[in-house]
Amino acid sequence: MTKTMPSDLFASDFKAAPYWWDEVPRPDLPRVDPPAQAEVVIVGSGYTGLQAALQTARGGRHTVVLDAEAAGFGCSTRNGGQISTSVKPGFDELARRHGRERAFAIMQEGRNSLRYIGDFVRDEQIDCDFGVVGRFHAAHAPGRYEELARSVGTQPKGLEVACHVVPRAEQRSEIGSDLYHGGVVYESHASINPARYHQGLLQRVVAAGAELVPHCPATGIERIGQDFLVQTPRGTIRTREVVIATNGYTGPLTGWLRRRVIPIGSYVIATEALEPELVDKLIPKNRIVSDTRKVVYYYRASPDRRHILFGGRVSLSEIDPRRSGPLLHGAMSRIFPELAGRKISHSWCGFVAYSFDELMHIGRHEGMHYAMGYCGSGVGMASYLGMRLGQQVLGLAEGKTAFDGLPFQTRPFYSGNPWFLAPSVLYYSWRDRLAR
Ligand SMILES: Cc1cc2nc3c(=O)[nH]c(=O)nc-3n(C[C@H](O)[C@H](O)[C@H](O)COP(=O)(O)OP(=O)(O)OC[C@H]3O[C@@H](n4cnc5c(N)ncnc54)[C@H](O)[C@@H]3O)c2cc1C
Repeated sequence: MTKTMPSDLFASDFKAAPYWWDEVPRPDLPRVDPPAQAEVVIVGSGYTGLQAALQTARGGRHTVVLDAEAAGFGCSTRNGGQISTSVKPGFDELARRHGRERAFAIMQEGRNSLRYIGDFVRDEQIDCDFGVVGRFHAAHAPGRYEELARSVGTQPKGLEVACHVVPRAEQRSEIGSDLYHGGVVYESHASINPARYHQGLLQRVVAAGAELVPHCPATGIERIGQDFLVQTPRGTIRTREVVIATNGYTGPLTGWLRRRVIPIGSYVIATEALEPELVDKLIPKNRIVSDTRKVVYYYRASPDRRHILFGGRVSLSEIDPRRSGPLLHGAMSRIFPELAGRKISHSWCGFVAYSFDELMHIGRHEGMHYAMGYCGSGVGMASYLGMRLGQQVLGLAEGKTAFDGLPFQTRPFYSGNPWFLAPSVLYYSWRDRLAR
């Protein structure tokens, strides 16, 4: 097959928008003004905000959810739909920082988040292609394969997860590529259609009585005695509780939080429809896939197994999806040469929120509740911590988490504009190449 030039890479019906939005467009909710009074105001209508809202609305609190854009505009309808245990630092690193007991509890929360989302979509009967398909985590260098294999044999006692090593010689049973040096299958990791999950969650939040006010940014928050005044361009709401659920879209509204999260663009493409036999060859067991690069690639087949959805970070600074698309296509074609001549139907991006300690954070600042900083792995964790946050707002004992009270770090001179991102991406990409 001849190699297509970048200008030919886009399908005639190409969209610079998430693949998921074709099937689940952003909801056309009635344009209502926010009420003057509420008991709980939630800023942000992604998984964190909606899971918190479900708790407070079902708990009988008058709940209002604001979003600056359409409902679910942020990461929650843009992501790759890969669900893991979400906690990035390993047990030893966490034990060094926080002691073994706390480290154990934090790792357990990762497992709790994975279990929670599966139980939630089942109990709420949300039709969103959730499946425990397992993850193939591919080693991009021989040394990484050895590290992975070792980690499988030395899992901390009580924190073991079901996984098995796949040597390079057997790799084709997991992935139609020879680029990798083997890998590990994490059997309990799952996949989901993120926008259908968001849609089902939104429907339940509205059914529980919460008011959704899209296209209505919170522009100011002021404390008045026990209450808050939340300002918006369409009126001010007086409320007892405020929840900040803005993650990678955290802005000047909450300067203290903005100094603690690092917004990083993550980019995805979808291929045009492929022949089922080709998808069966590339991703034979319908696994979700990621690799050991620090600047990671993550990919999967679409739920209908007609498209490959391929994501990663392909530029030092943020770029337009029309430019990231061909770069991702190049990376994808190195893994799957069969896709070199296939077109891109969608290319999009969204902002994830990293934290300086690579952990998610939940807590209260100046009386406002927040949960954020999922470091790119928030499908399960934002859902779980959003739910816990809602319980905390209700004052319920079960709202306690292992993340409560962890210091939420910032750095001197950091105000929310990650000037260090480009050199960091450059450094980690260089390390990834060096490992190879
Ligand atoms: C391309 C991409 C791929 C990803 N892939 C995966 C994956 O495969 N697996 C995984 O686990 N995670 C993945 N993630 C991360 C995951 O999607 C997020 O961690 C998660 O969705 C965060 O949910 P959230 O509700 O906290 O934030 P978001 O869904 O981002 O919602 C924040 C909302 O806050 C709103 N907002 C901001 N400021 C205001 C304001 N002042 N007033 C009102 N509203 C405001 C925004 O408009 C936005 O809608 C991915 C993310 C991206 C971008």
